[in-house]
Amino acid sequence: MKAKSVLALSQRLSGNALLALAFFLSVFENSPVKGQSCGSGGLAVQVLGSGGPELQDKRASTSYLIWDHGTARVIVDAGGGSALRFGESGAQISQLNVVLFSHFHIDHSGDFPALIFSSWFEDRKRPLPVYGPAGNDFMPSTTEFVRDLFSEPHGAWRYLSELVEAGAQGSYTLEPHDVVAGSKPVLVYRDSGMALYAVRVIHGGFPALAWRVEMEGKRIVFSGDTNGEGDGLAQLALDADLFVAHNAVPEGATGVERRLHMPPSVIGMIAANAHVKQVILSHRMLRTLGKESATEAEIRRRFQGPIAFANDLDCFPVR
Ligand SMILES: [Zn+2]
Repeated sequence: MKAKSVLALSQRLSGNALLALAFFLSVFENSPVKGQSCGSGGLAVQVLGSGGPELQDKRASTSYLIWDHGTARVIVDAGGGSALRFGESGAQISQLNVVLFSHFHIDHSGDFPALIFSSWFEDRKRPLPVYGPAGNDFMPSTTEFVRDLFSEPHGAWRYLSELVEAGAQGSYTLEPHDVVAGSKPVLVYRDSGMALYAVRVIHGGFPALAWRVEMEGKRIVFSGDTNGEGDGLAQLALDADLFVAHNAVPEGATGVERRLHMPPSVIGMIAANAHVKQVILSHRMLRTLGKESATEAEIRRRFQGPIAFANDLDCFPVR
């Protein structure tokens, strides 16, 4: 409500009515955005985007944030709409230790430039590592992807080329890395606070990774988009405290849908084989929305632990 209209209204109100209005306005203005305190007490995963590529699902596309005691440390994917959710989460790019990509479909990477441009207005000095898959004929590698966005002379947003020039003044740098992962999980990065593992997953012909982030003795695993073929994902997800799986197709899916994505029975099988502690279902699409009870029942036939369907900005503590 604009100040002017509040003033006009207050001239017509008095006593208790005015007090009530003041209370309402203060509550309204101070209402935290859903999940804004995510991770304040420890480790947590916040879902920035719970949808797929369809805008009609009314969800941001894929993106997840890992919070550690109130600081956003890791972002996994940055699909369309997720940059807005990032802002709503209260996170800042300057807090991030690393950016991880599962693959470069637009619903996983489309808002990356928006996130990066926002960081221009923060005070970040240290480099920002970006890890994602190597490329093939269908997709750029992670280093190509970053270069295609920001490098001189052909990058789409080359006005930010400082980001990819070593020694540039006044900017931090992006440090992209191509992760060559096979069918067995590999250690990609480790420091005193975090270890990152990846495994190649099958998502049609598109180079794609599933990620495991280890922090504070906990394991958080992101399936990314995959049809669930092979046992690499189950190995990566072994004993995971949180397993974020993509619910992009219903049971019985066939053809291209099935070649790209895993149905609920496969999610349940992987979760059971890996003995994960909790399953979060995300990447919800029009073809799976509304089928939650059937999806859950199908997973339950194989996996008996907790299952949750994600919505944008949901915060899942990792205990
Ligand atoms: Zn996707």
